[in-house]
Amino acid sequence: MSVLVVGASAAGLTTAEALRRKGFRDPITVLGAEYHRPYDRPPLSKQFLLGDWDETRTRLRPDTMLTALDAEFVLGDPAVALDGHTVHTTSGRSLTADHVVIATGLTPRRLPGPDLEGVHVLRTLDDAAALRRSLTPEVQVVVVGDGVLGAEIAATVCKLGLSVTLAGPQAALMEAQLGAVVGGLLGELHTAAGVELRLGVAVDGLTGVGGRVSGVRLANGDLLPADVVVVALGAAPATGWLEGSGLTVENGVVCDEYCRAADGVYAAGDVARWRAEDRLVRLENRTNATEQALCVAANILGERQPYRPIPYFWTDQFSTRLQVHGRPSADLTIAEGNIGERFVAHYRDAGRIVGVLGWNAPKQTRAHRQHLVRT
Ligand SMILES: Cc1cc2nc3c(=O)[nH]c(=O)nc-3n(C[C@H](O)[C@H](O)[C@H](O)COP(=O)(O)OP(=O)(O)OC[C@H]3O[C@@H](n4cnc5c(N)ncnc54)[C@H](O)[C@@H]3O)c2cc1C
Repeated sequence: MSVLVVGASAAGLTTAEALRRKGFRDPITVLGAEYHRPYDRPPLSKQFLLGDWDETRTRLRPDTMLTALDAEFVLGDPAVALDGHTVHTTSGRSLTADHVVIATGLTPRRLPGPDLEGVHVLRTLDDAAALRRSLTPEVQVVVVGDGVLGAEIAATVCKLGLSVTLAGPQAALMEAQLGAVVGGLLGELHTAAGVELRLGVAVDGLTGVGGRVSGVRLANGDLLPADVVVVALGAAPATGWLEGSGLTVENGVVCDEYCRAADGVYAAGDVARWRAEDRLVRLENRTNATEQALCVAANILGERQPYRPIPYFWTDQFSTRLQVHGRPSADLTIAEGNIGERFVAHYRDAGRIVGVLGWNAPKQTRAHRQHLVRT
């Protein structure tokens, strides 16, 4: 029995490792679009962008561990089509296996309009390296996007001592994700450090001179001058290569509760949208990539494990770490500690605790997680 994993990153590598740990000795191939050996993405907007970590430090495993895995890594050759259990690649390879695991993650959204020099997105190591190179002294940076990635990038650019403005349509940073109270606190953190926030107004487009970006135009007519623009408007599941595969692809690869998209075809990580009771769920976070891959490996080996995680993500902005377990709602109460320092908050839905947020309080947050039930 052979396994082909498409996507050589967090979910893909974990699937291969979990199979080996469980005693699977048959061939495993890991196909990746990028030339890099598997690396981790969370440091890209933090330690790597700041210059504290180099490329080697972002690697998920040292070479010795990759060799010991005894899997064939085919890197720098994106999949272009899936036909049954056969994957076709850009270079013309055809790879067939008894089980195919789709772990291709996301592709960042861009602003419409012509390509302009100085405009960046941040998803890959190459994206991060290009952005880091552009952050030279005196540049004026505008981050477009008020979600978690935009907020992290603005914080890092500010820590580098550069002038940075963050623009987005929400009234508060990460408001849709964490609510107005936490969004307001994050805003205070950013403003105190020197980030200029232009919230509550959508971005209309970019302006350029001679093929280089010169500014960001807001819907109210204001123009934010910029030498470097980072577009952090979210990302879409990387499923273009699955067109014509016969799989159901709707905002991700639609799977059953066992993360199975078709007979012998599974999906894991950011790209997977699986059935959790009466709804379909897709999560974009690092912990899910690992946990879902572990579940997929178990199910390939016939264990029939339904995937029922308690969602979790963290974000680091300036010296604050936010940790979020479960599902934030609009109803937030402080459960422990004090706002402005370290605290734990509960999110409720119909009186039941559905989410726990920790603000610089890792130990306490873990303790409160017990209030949550699985998806
Ligand atoms: C800058 C950044 C910071 C983040 N910070 C945090 C954080 O602080 N906390 C947190 O919880 N989460 C964070 N995340 C999210 C986390 O990194 C992702 O949830 C996680 O990487 C998902 O893993 P994955 O393996 O599903 O997808 P990915 O890591 O995106 O990997 C998918 C892989 O598939 C490859 N691929 C794509 N298309 C093809 C194809 N056609 N053929 C072959 N290979 C293909 C890609 O090149 C990529 O290597 C961050 C993400 C980014 C980008």
